[in-house]
Amino acid sequence: MPVGMSLSLKPLKVSPSVGEVRLAPYRANIGLAFTGPDGEDIRLLPQLYGRFLALGVNQELSPQVARAVLDYLRADMPRFYRLRAFLLREVPAGSSEKTVSIGIVKFSPDRVELRSGDSGLIYTVRIHDGGHAECTCPDFFYRRRGTGTWCKHIKCLHQMLREEYSPKENFPYYLPLWEMKEVSPEAKFIEALGGLYEVMSHPVAEKESYTRRRDGYEVPVLGVEFEIPEGTGPGATLLTKVVSALKNRGLVLSFERDSSVDGGEIKLTPFPATLEECLEKGQLLKDLRGLVRGLFESSKHSGLHVHINMWPFRERWEDVPELILPFALLLQRRFNLASIFGRGMNPYATKIGATVPPRYWWVNFMSLPYTVEVRLGCSKHGDPVKILLMGLFFQRAFWAIMEGRFKVPSFDASGEELISAFSSLLSEEERRYIVPLLKEALLSP
Ligand SMILES: [Zn+2]
Repeated sequence: MPVGMSLSLKPLKVSPSVGEVRLAPYRANIGLAFTGPDGEDIRLLPQLYGRFLALGVNQELSPQVARAVLDYLRADMPRFYRLRAFLLREVPAGSSEKTVSIGIVKFSPDRVELRSGDSGLIYTVRIHDGGHAECTCPDFFYRRRGTGTWCKHIKCLHQMLREEYSPKENFPYYLPLWEMKEVSPEAKFIEALGGLYEVMSHPVAEKESYTRRRDGYEVPVLGVEFEIPEGTGPGATLLTKVVSALKNRGLVLSFERDSSVDGGEIKLTPFPATLEECLEKGQLLKDLRGLVRGLFESSKHSGLHVHINMWPFRERWEDVPELILPFALLLQRRFNLASIFGRGMNPYATKIGATVPPRYWWVNFMSLPYTVEVRLGCSKHGDPVKILLMGLFFQRAFWAIMEGRFKVPSFDASGEELISAFSSLLSEEERRYIVPLLKEALLSP
């Protein structure tokens, strides 16, 4: 069909009535069905991916049809967001201990008529903003109104919808409900990328092979490697799509295969080593992980490495390890770096002296040309913002050492002396963010 031609869809059955107390008959009825432009049967079923509610579709839709479906549902968005909030809630303490089988009689996202399996009576569950639910049954009316607890009907509906709305194989395509009513950092992140619909309809970026190629910069620049898990299913698809959208926007330089990790890694486009950039890029990584938290938690490998550009010192590259090592060793001895970076020193990170200059130590001089890599960060644990702020601190220190502007304090300097010396490397604004991190991690001598 021609691009731009508007299309009206006839809803086939939005709220069908089925009186049975069996799961199978209403399986179809908690979704939506449309007749497509060629008479095809288009079925939609909400699916919950992490904190996102998307509409699973039983077949791939042309962009025109997809937009027509979303336009049709536009007025329903607030109701879908109530439903989402309901699904994301846990059963409130003090709710009914009883279970019951229920049959859906009439369904809309914020109002469900159901038949109670024990009595055969029909009750209505209404879902309000924030996912608060009310039922018309006597138990709810007399005992639970205003208490925030749930009757057996609400509880069973909640459980049933959660099961039904978990990602389904026979609904393999997605129409994202892109208008986020609730502003979470992840939602803002998706909105900044043009909305969930744009992200999900993005072509997937090809993974590239690992490369050590780097540009040289005369000004302070940071690079970030962020290992991301490989998985299957909708969460992995969402992650890949978001990475592709970030790449398209120039925020991600490459998405590379790495045989040493489960999935792959993304390299952020190198950015100026400034406070603002570190806060922004740290938040980006935080949001990326927040979108598909479970995927990261189940992955084995998970580095978040910060690359510090040493290009201006390339003529003296041989001297870099010798000059930087005392500083790094001081940090390792006098600070609990693991508390800042969110994970302990793994065997690689402590392997100093295995080769000289050390490779795979937490400060790595051999990863990329004229670059020092700080390898203590983790994409799975820890706060990416803090990790990048530490990257910024190391950049300030490394360059000051190389330029002869900074004398590394001795191992037995007092805590105050250390903090004061390190503060001198930072601007007033940078101190506000970085000094508290250092103070918190300072070990008593
Ligand atoms: Zn009830």
